Amino acid sequence: MAETIVEVQEFVDVTDSTNSLASTTASTPPLEEQPFLLHRSLNERPHTVVSASGSYLTLDNGRKILDACGGAAVAILGHGNTEVATAVSNQMSKVSYVHTLSYGTNSSEELAKCILDTPGFDHGLVKAFFVGSGSEANDAAMKMARQYWFEKGETQRTRFVARRQAYHGNTFGAMSVSGMVGRKVPYQGVLMPNVALVSAADAFHHRRADEDETQFVERLVAETEAELVLLGPDTVISFIGETVSGAALGSMPAPKGYWPAIRKLCDKYGILLHLDEVMCGTGRLGTYFAFEQEGDIRPDIVTLGKGLGGGYAPIAGMLINDRIVQGLRQGTSAFNHGHTYQAHPVTCAASLAVQRIVKREGLIERVAKLGPTLGDMVRTAFAGAKYVGDIRGRGFFWSVEFVKDKSTKQPFASSLHFGGLVTRAAFDKGVAVYPGAGTVDGLVGDHVTLAPAYNATVKEMQLAVTTLRIAYDAIVESLD
Ligand SMILES: *Cc1c(COP(=O)(O)O)cnc(C)c1O
Repeated sequence: MAETIVEVQEFVDVTDSTNSLASTTASTPPLEEQPFLLHRSLNERPHTVVSASGSYLTLDNGRKILDACGGAAVAILGHGNTEVATAVSNQMSKVSYVHTLSYGTNSSEELAKCILDTPGFDHGLVKAFFVGSGSEANDAAMKMARQYWFEKGETQRTRFVARRQAYHGNTFGAMSVSGMVGRKVPYQGVLMPNVALVSAADAFHHRRADEDETQFVERLVAETEAELVLLGPDTVISFIGETVSGAALGSMPAPKGYWPAIRKLCDKYGILLHLDEVMCGTGRLGTYFAFEQEGDIRPDIVTLGKGLGGGYAPIAGMLINDRIVQGLRQGTSAFNHGHTYQAHPVTCAASLAVQRIVKREGLIERVAKLGPTLGDMVRTAFAGAKYVGDIRGRGFFWSVEFVKDKSTKQPFASSLHFGGLVTRAAFDKGVAVYPGAGTVDGLVGDHVTLAPAYNATVKEMQLAVTTLRIAYDAIVESLD
């Protein structure tokens, strides 16, 4: 199986100080000064945010930061929305918790309806399952897909096919189907072995000069089919992919025709198609689902996260189509999976409030309308920039990829942490963007991502983009 093996010495420390925004303390502080909370690094403390409103965060030192990435493309409504706060508080005082084994609540049922009941748009998804994180949603989807085949008596289906340079989460299941090799290094030999990884749908790094987009898609699909045939297509449970790649590749859409071709391939062998829209879904690209922009394709399973709760609650979801439901019905009629906090009434109430505001205020339409404007701002700001290899994205999801040499697309050495330096410089100038390292192959490559709130003003977006360019120039100047 095509799993890349990397030496442990090459482990990319994703919590490296230069790649985060935290204030570094060089030496280990005395025990009495150390935080009790296990932060991402033992050596540094993140900035403390004391309040947050709209697109701005206020730090404990009084500084205001323009949040141009909503954490990791999470805060779709911005911060401090009082309508959501009221909905949460109301739900808390009505029903704060019941166990789903015996009870249901209106907020979870209404949230499912709000997402799935879309008159005039037949996506085929009929049921929702809510959990606390994108990783859990993807694990649930993997178990659901396996159970589907189990109920049908096709117990020989034990494998997942996913893609390199993909991120599906940090739990053992979700990480097993992820392709970020740097993050996986400490768990080699422990992660699930029954995963085959095929090439990412990454035209910037992998389309050959002698190929057009169609030929590139044909090559990707042929490679995937060859892998399926090698594995034995009737041993494969599902194909898993981010409709538009998120953190690993930096808001990279697949080439035109890729997803319909993958759907066709899955149909040919009866394999389930699981689209991970934890980052690119819930309106981030200007349509509720990212797959709506990929032609007439219907996934069997879709996972949502980040924007589902908009940061107001830890919530993610798995959506399944009728085929999966019918599969369960043929067998036990029960999903053999569950969590204490699944479909939690308060997190569902928070999410429902967020989704209703987004609908009422036409914010997804706003993202669709202003997305190209944001893209133009980034392109204009970085026109002619020596170390910018690619600018890509859709909707309110744009990334700038840095390269050492534009003509060869050669990345900077990972030890330079170019993306991290730019991110930090932007932060020092008052703008938070989301850094990505290992863009090329999980080890080298740098990008930064902008993912503003759906209600961010054009002025705020322009300020973020202009500041990002100033930050980039400052880093370039310090290197030359
Ligand atoms: C963030 C992310 C996940 C993991 O979600 P968590 O809530 O961090 O567990 C999974 N898939 C994609 C595409 C993501 O961007």
